[in-house]
Amino acid sequence: MTTKADTEQLRQLDRAHYLHPFTDLGKYSRDGGRIITHAEHVYIYDSDGNRMLDGMSGLWCCNLGYSQTSIKEAIYTQLQELPYYNSFFQCANVAAVELASALVAVTPPQFNHVFFTNSGSEANDTNLRLLQRYYSVLGKPEKNLVISRKNAYHGSTIAASSLGGMSAMHRQARGLDYIHHINQPYWFAEGGEEDPQAYGVRIAQELEQAIDSLGEERVAAFIAEPVQGAGGVIIPPDSYWPEIKRICRQYDILLVMDEVICGFGRTGSWFGCQTYDLEPDLMTFAKAVTNGYQPLGGVMVGDKVAGVLLSDDSEFAHGLTYSGHPAACAAGIATLKLLRKKRVVEETAEKLAPYFQARLQTLRDHPIVGEVRGLGMLAAVELVRDKHSRTRLAPDSQAAVYCRNQANAAGLMVRQTGDAMITAPPLICNRREIDNLVTMLAQALDLTAQHYGIH
Ligand SMILES: *Cc1c(COP(=O)(O)O)cnc(C)c1O
Repeated sequence: MTTKADTEQLRQLDRAHYLHPFTDLGKYSRDGGRIITHAEHVYIYDSDGNRMLDGMSGLWCCNLGYSQTSIKEAIYTQLQELPYYNSFFQCANVAAVELASALVAVTPPQFNHVFFTNSGSEANDTNLRLLQRYYSVLGKPEKNLVISRKNAYHGSTIAASSLGGMSAMHRQARGLDYIHHINQPYWFAEGGEEDPQAYGVRIAQELEQAIDSLGEERVAAFIAEPVQGAGGVIIPPDSYWPEIKRICRQYDILLVMDEVICGFGRTGSWFGCQTYDLEPDLMTFAKAVTNGYQPLGGVMVGDKVAGVLLSDDSEFAHGLTYSGHPAACAAGIATLKLLRKKRVVEETAEKLAPYFQARLQTLRDHPIVGEVRGLGMLAAVELVRDKHSRTRLAPDSQAAVYCRNQANAAGLMVRQTGDAMITAPPLICNRREIDNLVTMLAQALDLTAQHYGIH
């Protein structure tokens, strides 16, 4: 256990030396933060002894919580056997081979090949490399533009942040010039008075317009998350994906799905593309593949792309020192084993997700709640001052920040994105834990309403 003195020292060292991701660095160096010391089941503990219910599954990755001994042991055992070897130069390792075939078994049938990376960002970089290689082998190197969406999140390397559509990131990172962004299907914030289904079709058709204006012969692919996660758990109107599917079929472009959050059961199917009946050519995964216990990502490569790459006898000049790292792959194998053995995806879809969504819907009538939307074990609660006009409670998302702080202080780890409260709890929560999550969130909403004088 950390003592109070240890805690103070840790805080001081943290502020002095540790640059945190997606953090106001100046403010953090003055105020510091919370030091997480240990975790158990679906609870995290900080160095002050506070216990928090983890409504975010870490960062959308610890879908099976923090106490999966079989994954921890698999990592340790693998380290004893072979702590590292690379997959360059005609070598492979047992864990990487086994994970590759286990992934092929759980992903849609068009996927029979995988390329491993250490993160989702690198996997999306890999997508760009694969697309460029694919079209150049096909003799169409000019087909090199990629269409993505505003407010998408595809990671934080230069390529991944360019693929993403986060304006704050674009302001700080000069991006690639061959990526084009169309609007996102975010009816609540951007749909105005338009009928949501008509809006969904209209926004989807921006893809068709973009292909037409850029030229079909120039466009390589469309990339999207089935449900935008970091952007605010943006669940498209039902009309959106069928229209995108029609456009992808009609035009000669590839569909890349970024399943880094949606994959491995989050939306109620193994993969978000199955929830929406889509057939991607490439599929990015990371996060929950190892239950967050080891850094690992990758791209599932569909037969159409793999066939072309395999038909070419020159080197695919791309790879990472830790591609297929044995310890990370061992964690992946153990995670997939658990998911299958305990039927976690199926059980969640049948039992926990409907319960979670029904409990969250009880917040719909709260005076500052404009919408509760969810899918599987993903949800967002939009905060408003006026339900009908959807006007916001306070500028700069301050109300949601306030609400998030109240929830955190009460022992619930949830996130704020824009004016929405976001939650993605572990798939192994029990009903009591879901009840507690909703109760704590409701209390934070009450305090927020009070703070802004809404009754
Ligand atoms: C988190 C995330 C990424 C980036 O993954 P990292 O492992 O952080 O690089 C990419 N895409 C989506 C949809 C994500 O949520």
